[in-house]
Amino acid sequence: MSKYDVAVIGSGPGGYVAAIRCAQLGMKTAIIEKYSTLGGTCLNVGCIPSKALLDSSHHYDDAIKHFETHGIDIPGEIKVNLKQMIARKQAVVDQTTGGIDFLMKKNNIDVYEGVGAFKDATHITISGKKTIEIEAKNTIIATGSKPSNLPFIKLDKERIITSTEALKLKEIPKHLIVIGGGVIGLELGQVYRRLGAEVTVVEYMDRIIPTMDAGLSKELNKVFKKAKFKMNMSHKVKSVERKGKEVIVKADNKKGEEVEIKGDYCLVSVGRRPYTDGLNAEAAGVKLTDRGQIEVNEHLQTSASNIYAIGDVVKGAMLAHKAEEEGVFVAETIAGQKPHINYNLIPGVVYTWPEVAAVGKTEEELKAEGKDYKVGQFPMRALGRARASMDIDGFVKILADKTTDEILGVHMIGARCADLIAEAVVAMEFRASAEDISRMSHAHPTFTEAIKEAALAATEDRALHI
Ligand code: FAD
Ligand code: NAD
Repeated sequence: MSKYDVAVIGSGPGGYVAAIRCAQLGMKTAIIEKYSTLGGTCLNVGCIPSKALLDSSHHYDDAIKHFETHGIDIPGEIKVNLKQMIARKQAVVDQTTGGIDFLMKKNNIDVYEGVGAFKDATHITISGKKTIEIEAKNTIIATGSKPSNLPFIKLDKERIITSTEALKLKEIPKHLIVIGGGVIGLELGQVYRRLGAEVTVVEYMDRIIPTMDAGLSKELNKVFKKAKFKMNMSHKVKSVERKGKEVIVKADNKKGEEVEIKGDYCLVSVGRRPYTDGLNAEAAGVKLTDRGQIEVNEHLQTSASNIYAIGDVVKGAMLAHKAEEEGVFVAETIAGQKPHINYNLIPGVVYTWPEVAAVGKTEEELKAEGKDYKVGQFPMRALGRARASMDIDGFVKILADKTTDEILGVHMIGARCADLIAEAVVAMEFRASAEDISRMSHAHPTFTEAIKEAALAATEDRALHI
């Protein structure tokens, strides 16, 4: 029987990063993945394929809407080749997952294909083409998550679908009904809207992306409405039914009236649930919470002291970079180091266009905490760079402590905000004040100038270009 210092169950961004860090720290490491490709949700059916389709559909949208204004004439009709778009997406996925195979080899990590199940706290049975057993002094559970569903919806995975199917449709829906106006619903909704589908969003809360700062929800809603999305807030879905090629969604609106929406596809994107099926956690003495997550302490240690858990299967934001941080954290903890994660500074990004990005506290959270804060906001449309590229939607908002000027939260929506947010993370990690940012040179013309201007507005209400 092969023996390891560490076995990692699950090869998503949490698991494969944990395995690399363990190997770097000199531990004999194995990784177990039930699918034939490594990379988990993120690389196979999450972050990477969704961004590939967002990029392709963005090019198409630009071509049909903006090329003419830019002075680019394309003779003939510009058409979508969905088959090619999906094939390119798959090529990006294959290349990226292949990169993880390379990283495992490079770091001398043993890869096992099969479902990992605890026999006890130090033995794991792997059921793949053959069934084998390995011994591990420590185990890191990184089994991730699966799409959630509403109890009354029967997902047929053809027309009533999750994000996994939405990433490989064979035709562009005529009318896509999206249940849940969160990250997945808006990103994939935008892909198919750009490709010509009518898209109706049905959201239970009174705003889209409801966990983000309300100002961001409002601005993104405005942009989506301009792009002719049908946005239905405060709607409680009560049934989803398929009749042949038709899907019928019934919901109660705010006034309690029944609304019926007919489409040809329905994407159910109401969140994801932790995944522990087949893990046999109880055999190792690993407890679950009542929400089905693996219960962990502040060291991400489970109720079995040699077993840790990270990523989507534990509490916290379900984000790839959060899972990665936790992977490194646990590897270093096992190696006897004292790592640290500042969960308040894990940024959240929605890769729609305009992109939405945030770090730190929202205005709603600061109000609930009774914190005295000030706001500096700067619109993208006031930037020369934004006008040059015709990306004028959005703003940057900086929230700073009223007394100390320390930055407490940064919320932005606009072109390239997914990348811009890194400046805010660095600033907040070093506990910068709004004035610190406002006194640093930002290249002109760039979108980053909106951060400097928002910081000026937060410091002394002295933005320069508005
Ligand atoms: P996962 O990536 O889910 O990996 C878990 C792995 O464990 C899987 O491969 C699974 O097969 C394997 N496994 C489970 N049980 C066993 C077992 N018993 N034995 C062996 N293997 C097992 N996050 C972002 O930060 N940015 C984004 O842009 C983004 N986009 C997304 C888009 C979509 C459409 C979706 C669905 C998600 C997106 N996410 C994004 C979320 C991100 O994918 C997850 O937060 C991330 O993948 C979590 O990583 P993880 O390692 O915890 O788990
Ligand atoms: P989400 O939590 O972002 O959004 C779910 C939405 O569905 C919420 O707005 C919620 O109010 C709504 N909802 C819940 N029940 C409903 C109901 N009965 N009727 C109507 N609406 C309902 O979840 P998601 O979009 O499914 O994404 C799942 C996870 O994947 C998220 O945690 C997210 O962090 C992660 N993800 C991240 C990215 C990214 O980082 N860009 C992209 C995709 C997914």
